[in-house]
Amino acid sequence: MNEYPELKLYIGGSWRTTAETLPVVNPANEAVIGQIPVADTEALDDALAAAATGFETWRTTSPGDRADLIRSAASLLRARQDEIAHSITLEHGKPFEQARAEVIRGAEFLEWDAGEATRTYGRVIPSGPGIRHIVHHQPIGPVAAFSPWNFPLSQPARKVAGALAAGCSLVLKAAEETPAGALHIAEAFHDSGLPAGVLNLVFGVPADISQRLISSDAIRMVAFTGSTAVGRHLTGLASDHMTTVLMELGGHAPVIVCEDTDVDAAAESSAIRAMRNAGQVCTSPTRFFVHESVFEQFLEGITRRSAATVVGDGMEPGVEMGPLANDRRLAAVVELIADATDAGGEVTTGGGRIGTTGYFHEPTVLANVPEHARIMQEEPFGPVAIVNPVDSLDTAIERANSVPYGLAAYGFTNRADYIDRMVDRVEAGNLSINTLEASLPETPFGGVKSSGYGREGGTEGLHHYLAVKSVSHSTTTA
Ligand code: NAD
Repeated sequence: MNEYPELKLYIGGSWRTTAETLPVVNPANEAVIGQIPVADTEALDDALAAAATGFETWRTTSPGDRADLIRSAASLLRARQDEIAHSITLEHGKPFEQARAEVIRGAEFLEWDAGEATRTYGRVIPSGPGIRHIVHHQPIGPVAAFSPWNFPLSQPARKVAGALAAGCSLVLKAAEETPAGALHIAEAFHDSGLPAGVLNLVFGVPADISQRLISSDAIRMVAFTGSTAVGRHLTGLASDHMTTVLMELGGHAPVIVCEDTDVDAAAESSAIRAMRNAGQVCTSPTRFFVHESVFEQFLEGITRRSAATVVGDGMEPGVEMGPLANDRRLAAVVELIADATDAGGEVTTGGGRIGTTGYFHEPTVLANVPEHARIMQEEPFGPVAIVNPVDSLDTAIERANSVPYGLAAYGFTNRADYIDRMVDRVEAGNLSINTLEASLPETPFGGVKSSGYGREGGTEGLHHYLAVKSVSHSTTTA
C-alpha cells in the first residue's frame, strides 16, 4: 500500500508547494504523517485569477461534456478507492472499510450531479403574440468552497460536484487536518483532463483564506460545511459583497422512539449509527426521546450495543470506531460529558478517554440528562448518545424542537398518525422514519434554523450554483 501522499496546492492546472507548511497528524497515534503547504496571498490571488479564467472555459463547455468529465473523475476515484481509503484512515482515523465506503459515496455524489448537469431546465412563460418570455438557469460564477474534516473525501466531493455540474469553477479550501481526500479529488479531475483553472485546491490558515477569497470580486458564491459559528462568520463576510451562500452547518439530531416500535431493533441500529465516524457526523442521532413505557428496554439495548463497539486503529481489521479526528474534539467531548454528569446525567457505558496516546474516546451513553446541561443544546460531535424518557409524542416533538439546530431528525414508529404529526411539526431539513439514513445523492440535504440554508443533492442540489435569467424577446422593435 502507498504511503500518505505528498500534499500540494492545485492552482491553474499545476501542482505547487510552498515554503511554509503545517503538519498533518494521525489521530490514532499522534504521529506526523505529512505537511500541508500553506497558501500565501500570492497563491490565493493566483487561484482566484485561475478560477476566473477557468469559469470562462467551463461555462461554455456543453452540459453533456461537463457530465462526461465529472463521471470520468468519479470512475478514477472508484478505481483508486483502496489507495484513497488508506490515506483517509491515516489522516482521519476512521476504519478502513468506512473510508472506502466514503470514497464510493463521494463518487456517487459526483455521478448524481453529473446527471443533473444535463437537466438544469428553464421554462417558457405564456405570453402574447410577438413576444416570448424564457427563463434560463446559468452558472452563477466562480465559487469559494470550504469543506470540513469529518468526511475528507465525500464532503469536498459534494461541493465540487454541485459547482462543476452547474458550470461554475471553484477555489476549494479543504480541511487542513484531512487534506488527502481533496487532493485525490483534484488528481482525479486533473487526470481526467479538466481544463486548467476550473478546480483549484488550497490549504492554509482558514481565517486568512476565507477573508481573501470571499472579499474578491471574482467570487460569486460561498459554499461551506462546518460549524454554525464559522458559517455565521462566513455569511457575514459574504453579505458585505452581496455574495450568495450555501451553508451546511451543525445539527443535534433528535430521535423519537414511540411505544409501538420494535424497540430492540431500534436500539441496535441507533447504537451503531451514533458511534459511526466516532459520532463526528452532522446528522448523527444524538438526542433520544423515548416513550417512558419502553425507556428501560431501549436504554438497555443501546447501552449494550454501544459498549460492544470495537474501538481501535482504523487500519486494524474488525475495528468499528476509530479515534476522534483531532485533539480539539477529544477535549470538547470530555468537557461536555463532565458537564452532563455534574448536572445529574447518568453514564450507562463509557464516559472517558481511552489511553493517553491517540484521541480515542469510549462509546458513551448518557441517560436522564437534564435539559439545562450544555450537551442538550450543543452538538457533541463525538461518540455520545443521550437517552431521556418522555410521556408522549407531543412532549418528544417539543423537546426535539428545543435546540437552535434543525438538520436531521428521526422517528421510530409504525403508526400513521404519529408519522403524520412528526412530518408536520418536527423542525428539520431531513426527517427519516424507521431508518437512520438522512442523506443520499438523490435526496436534497440541508437544514433549517441555525443548521443553515440551501440544499445539496437531489434535483435541488444545483439550484444555489445557478442564477436565474429571465429573457423577454419581442419579434418587433418597440
Ligand atoms: P471550527 O468551528 O473551528 O471549524 C469547523 C470547520 O470550519 C473546519 O473545517 C475549519 O477548518 C473551518 N474553519 C474554521 N474557521 C474558518 C474560517 N474563518 N474560514 C473558513 N473556514 C474555517 O471547529 P472544529 O473544532 O474544526 O469542529 C468542531 C465543530 O465543527 C463541531 O462541533 C461541529 O459542529 C462542526 N463541524 C460540522 C461539520 C458538518 O458536517 N456540518 C463538519 C465538521 C465540523
